[in-house]
Amino acid sequence: MSNIDELLSEFPVIKEMQDYQPIFWKNPDYQTVENLPVGIEHVFDAEARFQRFAPYFEVAFPETLPMHGILESPLIELKSMKEVLNAQFEHQIEGDLYLKADNYLPISGSIKSRGGIYEVLKFAEKVAIEHGGLVYGDNYAVLNEEKYHKLFSGYGIAVGSTGNLGLSIGIVASKLGFNTTVHMSADAAQWKKDMLRSKGVNVVEYNDNFTHAITEGRKQAEQEPTTYFIDDEGSYDLFLGYAVAALRLQTQLKAQKIKVDEKHPLFVYLPAGVGGSPSGVAFGLKMVLGKNVHPVFAEPTHIPSVVLGMMTGLNDKISVYDAGIDGITKADGLAVGRPSRIAGKIMKTLLYGIQTFEDQDMMKNVVQLHDSERIDLEPSAASGFTILDSVLGQLKEDGYPLTNASHIVWATGGSMVPEEDMESYLADGRNI
Ligand SMILES: *Cc1c(COP(=O)(O)O)cnc(C)c1O
Repeated sequence: MSNIDELLSEFPVIKEMQDYQPIFWKNPDYQTVENLPVGIEHVFDAEARFQRFAPYFEVAFPETLPMHGILESPLIELKSMKEVLNAQFEHQIEGDLYLKADNYLPISGSIKSRGGIYEVLKFAEKVAIEHGGLVYGDNYAVLNEEKYHKLFSGYGIAVGSTGNLGLSIGIVASKLGFNTTVHMSADAAQWKKDMLRSKGVNVVEYNDNFTHAITEGRKQAEQEPTTYFIDDEGSYDLFLGYAVAALRLQTQLKAQKIKVDEKHPLFVYLPAGVGGSPSGVAFGLKMVLGKNVHPVFAEPTHIPSVVLGMMTGLNDKISVYDAGIDGITKADGLAVGRPSRIAGKIMKTLLYGIQTFEDQDMMKNVVQLHDSERIDLEPSAASGFTILDSVLGQLKEDGYPLTNASHIVWATGGSMVPEEDMESYLADGRNI
């Protein structure tokens, strides 16, 4: 922990953050050159692993059959939502607005179907090769058979989560046969815990924040030599699972004739909790699409952990609680007070900036998207919309050519939210 008074004198904007004012942090190191610990070859490696597992998904999760066992989400143009937003914005959205609809990803209905599931697959493959005679050229549908189920039941998988990571990992790990434990913070929605328990997952509940839940989970897993702990605060496997999205998006951009070049810049708005999923996606996009794609993160004013870490350069060495910020938000997927050990470091030269937002704007956007496009998101997932207006102002100031730009709001979750929970989000948003 560092001395907050010293930080305040060096970064006066922290005072505004303590007062829960929305802020924009422009990354001073954006598009400068730095050696990264991972490269595009690691993204291709991750994509190849997903491909090897596709026949497994077809048999174990038949809902993935139409997609041939590949977990991917659509890129949807939002014409009506764009009109709704422009009617209220100070800075108009020129160009096109899209939703990357990870709310429709199979299995967890969230972006966690990328990173979380990927790390489970990587571990399962390793165990199956070392102890079950699997070879890379096998049809991985065999992993759904009793022999492998029995092998995997000798191992544990554990994870700490605010909800969706636990959901994605729990569902796939328990289906493979692993002894699965999910350590849930107090923010986790009840239905996520119920669903996991119904699938035989051991759910440990904490009446405390995410940092506490993950720390306890890690400690317990360390005492069990056959248990593999998936560490949301610093896992490269999670990170690379998210990064695969970039290869898939590149294909979708081409299919939908969306240009990305000097005159057609692409801006991508990603919600950040621990920072792992948005950083993984942003890293992948920079590797695949280069200098004309510009990632921006959105964080709640009450829990701006990634911006605090990146701005001060302290990254995971500072939490919002150290700065006297309360960490209370309706964005349960973003309720993480201390950022990832790796996200801020890798994002140092790849992230355009971070804008913080108020919960009420996010709830309002949930309603607007429902009414204008009939798409339902969980609150965190709508936060990309909240920052558009102010970021557009920044981009104009910076002289980006916006006339033919594309804007992608990354919708990170929501299709599995039970109807009555969704109704209550909408009622909340309508009351504002
Ligand atoms: C996990 C999650 C995020 C943020 O991902 P991090 O890796 O924690 O930064 C955003 N939205 C939803 C719905 C999530 O579940």
